[in-house]
Amino acid sequence: MSEKILEIENLTVSFDGFKALNNLNFSLNTGELRVIIGPNGAGKTTFLDIITGKTKPTEGNVRFKGKNLRPYSEHQIARMGVGRKFQTPRVYLNLTPRENLELACNRFKNVFSTLFRKPPTAERRTIGGLLETIGLARKADMKANLLSHGEKQWLEIGMLVAQSPDLLLVDEPVAGLTDEETELTGELLVSLSKSHSIIVIEHDMEFVRQIAQGQVTVLHQGSVLCEGHFDEVQSDPRVIEVYLGHEVDHDQPIDLQQAALQE
Ligand code: ADP
Ligand code: MG
Repeated sequence: MSEKILEIENLTVSFDGFKALNNLNFSLNTGELRVIIGPNGAGKTTFLDIITGKTKPTEGNVRFKGKNLRPYSEHQIARMGVGRKFQTPRVYLNLTPRENLELACNRFKNVFSTLFRKPPTAERRTIGGLLETIGLARKADMKANLLSHGEKQWLEIGMLVAQSPDLLLVDEPVAGLTDEETELTGELLVSLSKSHSIIVIEHDMEFVRQIAQGQVTVLHQGSVLCEGHFDEVQSDPRVIEVYLGHEVDHDQPIDLQQAALQE
């Protein structure tokens, strides 16, 4: 198997001539946790839409586990092992966390499972184990509408994990969470990264600092502006400039966190 779970070459996505993604190159190692940052309109959500098959590339290719995704539909790509967490939690509020997880486990057990059967892996988790992982063991049997916003986010992450995806895509998971919930979400993602490849799109720089152990990718105007460890990226003048939107006075220390907030 390829060491790269995801390889993207010369990817361009045009909407009526406007290039939301422009000759973008990107790759992710199997087992890696990658954080992608970038100002509004940089193309982050479009990037996820391309990986999940919601949008098809105008030019270029996306390879997942060595396979070109172009011919596959969104549903087929999900079944191949790409799971996506949207910004707003999509859980069944009138069901309990346990019932939500049971549903998620069974979602793919239909006619398609014979077509896209995956070998059982050691990572396949029991519902009880998953409830522990997402910190909801004690709230397993109360209605999900009683959960806090953060707890609902964790439940949805749990529902994704229940489907044993190889690649987890997470779009701004801490928007609207309390500081404590944000920190717990970071711990959850870091712990899941031991058994999954994960891409997290994020604005909150404190959160990026918490979870980014390896490379951080900065998107700008549909292309990769730079990649590196958080500290390198944070002090890169090009990054500071796109966040602040003007020339940087190099004598002044810049706080990227403040820059992100001003955006
Ligand atoms: P981000 O998530 O980084 O804020 P997006 O991927 O949502 O950026 O958008 C990138 C650019 O592409 C934006 O300028 C946006 O207006 C444009 N865009 C996104 N989707 C469409 C679409 N379906 N049609 C036209 N323009 C779009
Ligand atoms: Mg977006």
